[in-house]
Amino acid sequence: MTTATAKWLARRLMVAHGLGGWKLKLVYSKSRKGECVDDEQLLRLSSAWIKVDDDEEVFRTILHEIAHGVRTYDKDAAVDDLEPHSKQWWKAYRKLCYIYGIKPECG
Ligand SMILES: [Zn+2]
Repeated sequence: MTTATAKWLARRLMVAHGLGGWKLKLVYSKSRKGECVDDEQLLRLSSAWIKVDDDEEVFRTILHEIAHGVRTYDKDAAVDDLEPHSKQWWKAYRKLCYIYGIKPECG
């Protein structure tokens, strides 16, 4: 998918899942496909990976980062649940993947 399409898709999904007020930035990174910066309410996606990954993987990366953002607002989260890939994060991520028919994987 093109970076423009990925950006459009990510924005739609962010709005749909309560991150409409967050910022989205495309960056060039070979080491990270995406990143969620809670403090800045910012999701970053790597344009380098968007260009080489298939559509499903790009979708998966966006959902992965949105699940991190969604976790920020979980008032029931225990402090140790807030570590990046906690059980609670997996729960949020799997739920998002289920909605869109994406196989949940975490690379
Ligand atoms: Zn992660």
